[in-house]
Amino acid sequence: MKRKITVLFLSRKKVGAGMILLALIFLMFFCKWPYNHLAVTQRKVPAQATLVIDPGHGGIDGGVSRGELLEKDITLGIAKLLKRALEKKGYNIKMTRETDRDVSHLIPGGPETRYRRDVHSRTKFVNESGADLFVSIHVDACEDPSIRGAIVFHSKDNAESKALATIIQNHLNKVTETDPQSGEYFHKGIKEGDFHILNNSTIPGALVEVGFITNAGDRKLLSTLSHRKKLAQAICNGIIEYLLDPLADNGFQDLPGLPQNDK
Ligand SMILES: [Zn+2]
Repeated sequence: MKRKITVLFLSRKKVGAGMILLALIFLMFFCKWPYNHLAVTQRKVPAQATLVIDPGHGGIDGGVSRGELLEKDITLGIAKLLKRALEKKGYNIKMTRETDRDVSHLIPGGPETRYRRDVHSRTKFVNESGADLFVSIHVDACEDPSIRGAIVFHSKDNAESKALATIIQNHLNKVTETDPQSGEYFHKGIKEGDFHILNNSTIPGALVEVGFITNAGDRKLLSTLSHRKKLAQAICNGIIEYLLDPLADNGFQDLPGLPQNDK
């Protein structure tokens, strides 16, 4: 009788341990524990991801400008460098434009203005691309010439977009604060963006404003190939880091950069 009770006790312990194990397996596989506190949707990232790069403006739409320096040329220059950097890492790249043209041709003419068709075409391109994420590249401008730095915009209520924007911003912050002058204000944070491509895209993405054309320091940097390369590499590093581990705790800290081997 005593022996029977011991056997019964042991088996209860075993059953208890088994139940705890099952509960842990359930938590890890179905509730994404211990990662669920990040509120990032777990997503399958293919080994060979496809990305859309969208260089802002083009053709008759120069974007913001100062003298000969046009936003459309800066964005295309950085986009091409980014494409090359990502292709070296094995990613498939689709560009909304690769030459000095607008993208309005993807939506047939009608009552819509060319500008609106251009904006809508970029979203259409992204949504029909079959890509895993997109990045739009722009240059900022504002009335206050002392404001400079990069701002990465993300989609509203989209954890993946926010995570992507944050990690790109972290990498950009390492290269944008170059030769700061007294009285200048450097943007260093992400923002929720009210842009058509962010509001209507069906895949995660970010809109990167690489600097302010209205600031003398940023303007000087943006006109050089060496700085454009640094910006492209920073965006590339951010994208790769995000794709390698979308669940990484990248929303709350600055992360070390990957080796810069794309010169
Ligand atoms: Zn723009």
